Amino acid sequence: MDYETFFAESVDQVKQEGRYRIFADLLRHAGDFPRATRHTGSDRSEVTVWCSNDYLGMGQHPKVLGAMREALEACGAGAGGTRNIAGTNHYHVLLEQELASLHGKEAALLFTSGYVSNLAALSTIAAKLPGCIVLSDEMNHASMIEGIRHSRAEKRIFKHNDPADLERQLKDLDPDRPKLIAFESVYSMDGDVAPIETFCDLADRYGAMTYLDEVHAVGLYGKGGGIADRDGVMDRVTVIEGTLAKAFGGLGGYIAASEALVDFVRSYASAFIFTTALPPHVAAGALTSIRHLKQSGEERARHQERAATLKRRLREGGLPVMPSTTHIVPVLVGDPVLCRQVTDILLERYGIYVQPINYPTVPRGTERLRLTPSPLHSDAHIDHLVQALSEIWRDLGLKHAA
Ligand SMILES: *Cc1c(COP(=O)(O)O)cnc(C)c1O
Repeated sequence: MDYETFFAESVDQVKQEGRYRIFADLLRHAGDFPRATRHTGSDRSEVTVWCSNDYLGMGQHPKVLGAMREALEACGAGAGGTRNIAGTNHYHVLLEQELASLHGKEAALLFTSGYVSNLAALSTIAAKLPGCIVLSDEMNHASMIEGIRHSRAEKRIFKHNDPADLERQLKDLDPDRPKLIAFESVYSMDGDVAPIETFCDLADRYGAMTYLDEVHAVGLYGKGGGIADRDGVMDRVTVIEGTLAKAFGGLGGYIAASEALVDFVRSYASAFIFTTALPPHVAAGALTSIRHLKQSGEERARHQERAATLKRRLREGGLPVMPSTTHIVPVLVGDPVLCRQVTDILLERYGIYVQPINYPTVPRGTERLRLTPSPLHSDAHIDHLVQALSEIWRDLGLKHAA
């Protein structure tokens, strides 16, 4: 076997399908978000980032940086072990208590990322519950799909955010078999929101558990507990999963649930047990970020205002904003080559960085720009973006809003 040729040809295939990923090489500026320096070979240029998931700019918040510095000086660089063998730092314990409280649950468990938390929790729960069937929203994130696949449990896919389809499937199942309904609150590519309460009603009626990924909502809705917090239904959901890497601005993932469920995952999940704990200063930063956003609504209010303003400005410019009900602002291009062309021009001509979103992240024909305005995007940033997009739409002859 010619291994190198195999690897190269497999990548060629990705390139032919227009799915080859090119990373922007950025140096973020703490204190000057959303500005960054972009490196291209030996050249560099200044850009405005319009696609970061550091939704509130908490990654540069002075309180967060201060807490991280303090913990770094106090505890050193790494955790020094797995949670079980010397790696549990007091900051992990405090953070888990804070997360449980954030979601009104008895307990919480930290993982090294949101991806790992979905993989570990879903695979462990669905594998160990005897005869478990997982009902999964068709638009669920790759990490949930991997977790379910890894469990080898039977899986049924229901239509996106569709309680009627979910109920139709629940009705057909053996009432005695354990069931887990897995879904997200805010879907990150369309910015739409799940009917959480209705799904919980169905779960109660058919004896199912619910598993809710709030990754794109924690820190941003309610008092930071996400959409279930905003809607007053956190106690209805069995497991809430979240990340510390998006609105909280750091790194790590978690689940929050009952004492018994959390202890069960802690005791059985390989991806929790056999890996080094997060560095203490990372946990300290997240703790401070969560506490800050629990008592301050200022960032959230400004975030929503910025998103609404951007949507309005784009619409006034005749640009095809897709119907998001949240902070995510998708703009339809509808073609992978044109989508990449738009973002290339934005970057090279205007110093605006937006990553194109193409298949398989979104369905073919719905290729788009996914804009994420933050409280730190100024009116001038918005003016510049809308002006740039209007010129590009005109020059490339792209479709305007209907
Ligand atoms: C980003 C994301 C994750 C993974 O979270 P990380 O902390 O980045 O690993 C999980 N679920 C959804 C829906 C996501 O978009």
